[in-house]
Amino acid sequence: MHKPIDVTEIFGSNVFNDRIMKERLPKDTYRALKKTIQEGLPLSLEVANVVASAMKDWAIEKGATHYTHWFQPLTGRTAEKHDSFISPTEDGSVIMEFSGKQLTQGEPDASSFPSGGLRSTFEARGYTAWDCTSPAFLKTDASDNVTLCIPTAFCSYTSEALDKKTPLLRSMEAVSKQAVRVLRALGNKTAKRVTSTVGPEQEYFLIDKTFYEKRVDLIVSGRTLFGAPAPKGQELEDQYFGAIKDRISAFMRDLDIELWKMGISSKTKHNEVAPSQYEMAPIFSTTNIAADHNQLVMETMQKVALRHNLVCLLHEKPFAGVNGSGKHNNWSLSTDEGQNLLEPGRTPAENEQFLIFVSALLTAVDRHADKLRASCGNPGNDLRLGANEAPPAIISIFMGDEFTEILEGLATGKKVASRGQHFVHVGVDSLPQLPKDNTDRNRTSPFAFTGNKFEFRMVGSSASISGPNIVINTIVSEALDEIATRLEKAGKSGLHKEAAAIVRDAMKKHGKIIFNGNNYSEEWVAEAKKRGLPNIKTGVEALASMATPEAVKLFEKYKVLSKGELHARYEIYLEGYVKHVNIEARAAVQMVKRQYLPAVIAFTKHLAKAIAQLKTAGVSAKVQKQLLSSVTELLESANDKLEVLESSIEKAHAVKDLIKRAEAFRDKVVVAANDLRKDIDALEGLTPADLWPVPTYAEMLFKL
Ligand code: ADP
Ligand code: MG
Repeated sequence: MHKPIDVTEIFGSNVFNDRIMKERLPKDTYRALKKTIQEGLPLSLEVANVVASAMKDWAIEKGATHYTHWFQPLTGRTAEKHDSFISPTEDGSVIMEFSGKQLTQGEPDASSFPSGGLRSTFEARGYTAWDCTSPAFLKTDASDNVTLCIPTAFCSYTSEALDKKTPLLRSMEAVSKQAVRVLRALGNKTAKRVTSTVGPEQEYFLIDKTFYEKRVDLIVSGRTLFGAPAPKGQELEDQYFGAIKDRISAFMRDLDIELWKMGISSKTKHNEVAPSQYEMAPIFSTTNIAADHNQLVMETMQKVALRHNLVCLLHEKPFAGVNGSGKHNNWSLSTDEGQNLLEPGRTPAENEQFLIFVSALLTAVDRHADKLRASCGNPGNDLRLGANEAPPAIISIFMGDEFTEILEGLATGKKVASRGQHFVHVGVDSLPQLPKDNTDRNRTSPFAFTGNKFEFRMVGSSASISGPNIVINTIVSEALDEIATRLEKAGKSGLHKEAAAIVRDAMKKHGKIIFNGNNYSEEWVAEAKKRGLPNIKTGVEALASMATPEAVKLFEKYKVLSKGELHARYEIYLEGYVKHVNIEARAAVQMVKRQYLPAVIAFTKHLAKAIAQLKTAGVSAKVQKQLLSSVTELLESANDKLEVLESSIEKAHAVKDLIKRAEAFRDKVVVAANDLRKDIDALEGLTPADLWPVPTYAEMLFKL
C-alpha cells in the first residue's frame, strides 16, 4: 500500500520558486530579481552572485552535486551538460562553489548541434544564458541522482538563436508590446505587460517494454514500420475515457508525483481514443514555462514508463490504422493584472476588447495559415494530418454558432444581441441544470475557439510547442500592431466607431477562415479550395513558407527571427526530415532482410517438406500447395520491393539540392517503404504465429 501523499507538500518541492527565493534571498536581492523577472530588466552580476549562492545551497541540501544549463536546441529535444559544484582549494580538498557568472552564462561546445550554417564547426562557440523567467529546478533520476537545472537560451557567438527558446521569448515580447498598445488605445491605463499563455494537452501511447525491445522499428524510429492490423482496433469506442487499468494508473500516479515535484501542474489524465493511448494535461502557464514543462513532461513520461516496464511512445503515428497522437496547444493572452483578453464575458456582442482580439486572431490565422502549418511540419505529422483522426492540413477557425453570428452581424451592420446564459436541460429533475457554453465542441477543427482561448490542434505529439507558439505570437503581433495603429489614429472620440470598423474589416477580409462544419468531410476540401485556403499536404512542402521573403519580412519586423535564423531553421528541418526518413527506411530494410524474409523462408521450407511427405504418403497436399504458392508469390514480390526501396534510398541520397533531396525521400523512399509494408503485412497474415519474428499489433496494443 502507498502512503497517502500530501500533494501540497510535494508540489514544487524541486523548484527554486518564488516561495524559496523569498525565504532564502536577502530582501533587496529578491526584489531586484523579481524586477528582472517581471519587467525583463538586465540582472547585475552582484545580484546574480547572491542568487547563485542561495540556489547552490538549496540544491546541495536537496542532494545535488551538479548543475546544468538546460537548453532546447533545434533538434526539438533538450540538452544538458553537467558540471559539479566542486572547486579545488590549496590544501587539496574541495569546496562547493557556484558563481553568478556560472548561473547566468555558459559555453557548451556547440559543434554537434544543428546550426543550419549559422556557425561553422571550427568556431563552434555557443552560449547559454539564464532565462530567469523560467524557474530553476532539480531533476532526479531513478537512482536518486539530483541535478540543478538552469533553464537557458542558447545562441551563437554572433548572437544568432540556435535554439527554440530564444525566438519564443522574443515572440512573447513582441505580442506583449502590441497587445499593450491595443489595450492603451482602448482605454486601459494600467496593464503593463501581456503574456501569451499555453496549456498543452499531451497524447501518448504506452506499450509493454518486452514487445518494444523486439522491434527495431520502434527502437530506432519510435513507430511501427510494419504490422498487420489487429482483429480489434478502436471501433468499439471502449478506450476513450475508459476505466484506467491498474498498471497504467500506477504509472500515471508516479508520473504525477514526478511532475508535481518539478512544479508542473499535471491536472487531467485519461484514456484516449486508440487502444493503449492516453493523455495528460497540465494547468496552463506562461508560454516559455509551458514549453519548458512540456519538454519535461515528455522526458518524464519516458523515464517513468521504464520504471513500470513500459515504454512511452510519443511518435505522432506509432501504429497504422488507429489514431495517432497530437498535442492540443491551448493559447490565450492575459494581462499582468490577470485579465484573459479572449474572455467573452456575459455579453460578447458588446465586448469591444474581446471582439478586437478575436479579430486579430482571424486576421493573423487567415493571413499566415501557411506558417502555422509549417510549424507543425515534422515527419511524424505527415502520417497523421488529414487522416480523419487529426485536423486536416487545411487551417480554419471554429468560432461556434453564437460568435459567428455576432461577428457576421457586426460585419454586415445587423444588430445581434448576446444570447445570454443558456442552460442544458437534461430532462431529469434531480440532475443539476448545466450552463451551456457559447461554443459547442468541434473536435475536427484545427484552430478552435473554446470559450476563452484558442486550441491549435495540429501540433505533433513529439514536437516542441515552441515553434507553433513562436508563429502564433508573431502573426498575432502583426495583426495587433495594425489594429493599435488604427485605434491610436482614431483617438478617443473616434474610438468606438473605429473599433467597430476593425471588426467589420477583419470579418470581410478574413471571415473566410471561419468554418464551423465537419473538417473531415470531402465537401470541406472543395469548399476550402474555393475560399482560397491553402491545403499543404506534407511537411516538406509546408516548411518552405518559413523562408519566403514575406516570412522573413514578418519575423524580422517583430524581431523574432532574422533571415539567417529562418533559413537555418528551414535547412535544419529539411535535413531532419531526410535523416528521419532515412533511418526509417534503413530500419525497414534491416527488418525485412534479417527478420521477415528469413521467417517466411523458414515457413516455405516447412511447407515444402510437408508437401513432399504428404506426397510420399499418397495424400493430397492441396492446401499446403496453395499456401506455399501464395506465400512464395508474396515473398518474391516483397523481395522485388525491397530492392526498389534500397535503390530509392541510394538515389535520394545522391540528390545534391537539399529541397529536391527531401522531396525524393518523401516521394520515392516513403512510397517504396509503404509498398514493401503491404507485402510484409500480408505475409504476416499467412505465417504461423510462432514463426513470426516480431510482436504483433494485437500484442502491443492490447497486452498490458
Ligand atoms: P478541454 O480542452 O477538455 O476543454 P480545458 O478547457 O480544461 O480542457 O483546457 C485544456 C487546456 O487548456 C488545459 O491545459 C487548460 O489549463 C488550458 N487553458 C485553459 N485556459 C487557458 C488560457 N486562458 N490560456 C491557455 N490555456 C488555457
Ligand atoms: Mg482539448
